Amino acid sequence: MQGVGFRPLVYRLATALGLSGGVRNDSTGLVVEVEGPVALIERFREALRQETPPAAVVSGHLDEWVPTEGTAGFEIWPSDAAGRRTTLLLPDLATCAACSAEIFDPKDRRYRYPFTNCTQCGPRFSIVLSIPYDRAATTMRQFAMCAPCAAEYADPSDRRFHAQPTACPACGPQLALWDPTGTCLADRDKALRRAADTVRRGEILALKGLGGFQLVVDARHDDAVRRLRRAKAREEKPFALMAPDLDWVRSAARVSVVEERLLCSPQAPIVLVERREDGGDVAPSVAPGNPNLGVMLPYTPLHHLLLADLSFPVIATSGNRADEPICTDEREALERLRGLADVFLVHDRPIARPIDDSVTRVILGGEQVLRRARGYAPLPIALPTPAAPILAVGAHLKSAVALTLDAHAFVSAHVGDLETVEAAEAHQRACEDLPRLYACVPVATACDAHPDYASTHIAMRLGRPTIAVQHHHAHVAACMAENGVRERVLGVAWDGTGYGTDGTIWGGEFLLAEPASFERFAHLRAFPLPGGDAAVREPRRAALGLLHALWGEALWQQADLAPVRAVEQRERRVWASMLAAGVNCPATSSVGRVFDAVASLAGLRQVTRFEGQTAMELEFALAGIDTDDQYPFGIAKSGEMAPWVIDWAPLIGSFIEDVRRQVPVGFLSARFHNTLVEMIVAVAQRAGQERVALTGGCFQNRYLTERAVSRLEAEGFRPLWHRLVPPNDGGIALGQAVVASARWQEG
Ligand code: ZN
Ligand code: ZN
Ligand code: FE
Repeated sequence: MQGVGFRPLVYRLATALGLSGGVRNDSTGLVVEVEGPVALIERFREALRQETPPAAVVSGHLDEWVPTEGTAGFEIWPSDAAGRRTTLLLPDLATCAACSAEIFDPKDRRYRYPFTNCTQCGPRFSIVLSIPYDRAATTMRQFAMCAPCAAEYADPSDRRFHAQPTACPACGPQLALWDPTGTCLADRDKALRRAADTVRRGEILALKGLGGFQLVVDARHDDAVRRLRRAKAREEKPFALMAPDLDWVRSAARVSVVEERLLCSPQAPIVLVERREDGGDVAPSVAPGNPNLGVMLPYTPLHHLLLADLSFPVIATSGNRADEPICTDEREALERLRGLADVFLVHDRPIARPIDDSVTRVILGGEQVLRRARGYAPLPIALPTPAAPILAVGAHLKSAVALTLDAHAFVSAHVGDLETVEAAEAHQRACEDLPRLYACVPVATACDAHPDYASTHIAMRLGRPTIAVQHHHAHVAACMAENGVRERVLGVAWDGTGYGTDGTIWGGEFLLAEPASFERFAHLRAFPLPGGDAAVREPRRAALGLLHALWGEALWQQADLAPVRAVEQRERRVWASMLAAGVNCPATSSVGRVFDAVASLAGLRQVTRFEGQTAMELEFALAGIDTDDQYPFGIAKSGEMAPWVIDWAPLIGSFIEDVRRQVPVGFLSARFHNTLVEMIVAVAQRAGQERVALTGGCFQNRYLTERAVSRLEAEGFRPLWHRLVPPNDGGIALGQAVVASARWQEG
């Protein structure tokens, strides 16, 4: 890894031991040559192993004996730009303790300087234009270093030795505060102090951060938060908070040791934590009806200074309107965030590519990334074998782009939902950015088999051969890849929607999968989805589809059931004839839609405000309930070669009985979740594969994942789950790249 202080460390260790030679960065990584007595070389090697800089990620090392050259002294050699560019780039890293001490020290020359950084922290991926990673190849190239900065940069014993983005108030980027017309209201520290005043007054601040704009408001101020919701057209989806410090997080939420470590890590992601009923002064509209809070700590000097001024939590949400990509340029922000922000806190360090905040949660005692961006992208996933160079364009929602190159898969930052022209353009830029950055010419483009995904259209336009990868196969391949598995697995791919190979909508799939191919071993019984895509926002539609598959026309007589009640008399005739004739009622095996149906039947919700809301609410409902109860279900196959079909009819029948007996919703939910887990176990027993990969958006559900893992382990299976890439469609690009590369290599 470049730019994490490895070379000064090597210099220090080698000179302390009196060894001669040199160190340089080249495109393959860090190269050290030392010459001296063997015993001292061994000591050097041991010391290097023990003193790896905290920000460094060592993906491998190789020792080799070479002829001596009789050099005197130890040198830091200039970087070598030749050769293949396989150097691993670092993600952006949160401000280190040494830098944050400096910005709060009135005697330091970087006192209150919001762009302070060093080799252990600061911007990387968000400023890099090409590699090898040198200042001239970053957006910092326009700032000439002053004499003191240049001296630090050249001093191997300094923390800022070859810190490419290093800067100070005399030579580096500066802040400005703009009104919505772009008129400058204040600059430098005054801009920062006035921006804080704005937030204190309950107004909306647009802040140019590390990888894009954020919208910042006082998280305690309900009117301000509601105004932000209206402006962003974001009805109920929870907002993430930036807390002033860890103590505040502890007061507002129950945070485990692992969660604290994650919050304070160099990645500094948003972490979903369980809020305390009593603690934390947070406006109700921040995360309505949600027992969790998404929290992060300040991760740049600018955020540290702002939050220290405020000393209360703020909402820090992506600077965009619903379905648009995050803004990175201040002029563009004035246009696109017009009417949304009251003032703009901007600076003159350009952002090379948009990078959102990452979202994680702790599952099975470890980190699981739900949205992979700042702090994680572009760290590669190591592949078990070298892959053909393939660019993968991802899915339609939560899209990202991936590139396989040698034994690595590089995954871009989260791009988002491709529902707008702006989002599709941002996606196209990400498709061009990754191969350019790694100087790689992909042999083919991998895309989803869905012909109508915006990403599929973009793939067609890239002018290379395209390889269509079935959605759930990609989910399973992503899970296999990040777990370093290439052998056949039983993949349990459960999500909302994916284009099946038989023209139906898949989403409750059990695939016997290898990187290059799969067989549909089992699936949920399909049911009609009245209105197709419209059903995603209306759980009652999924419920009526299930009930129609169960009872036909007779469903309309069950007037006590919530989904039936939720349909007005007028609509009823239309829906009844739609279902009876099977018009605009695509068949689906989606577990996501079964979650919807169950939430609707339980009376929890008939219309959703954001994707995944019902599944979240069902998961919330079972908090504190401890039961192994479950419902019955069927499993059968229609012929030797046919897949197993899991019949939800007994489950739904018993569930409705429970609803009619007014069993509390928490128990309904627990029994439902437990039944799903037993479906997985039943199929795993028939498939006879030791490894079972749990993947797809449904496995963002902690209860489902944790229980499935423990039940599978109890039955002697080896479950695999996601940690580094999201189980949701954010992981699709990685899976597509792996599948397409395997197929390419098989010819
Ligand atoms: Zn630092
Ligand atoms: Zn300077
Ligand atoms: Fe999916």
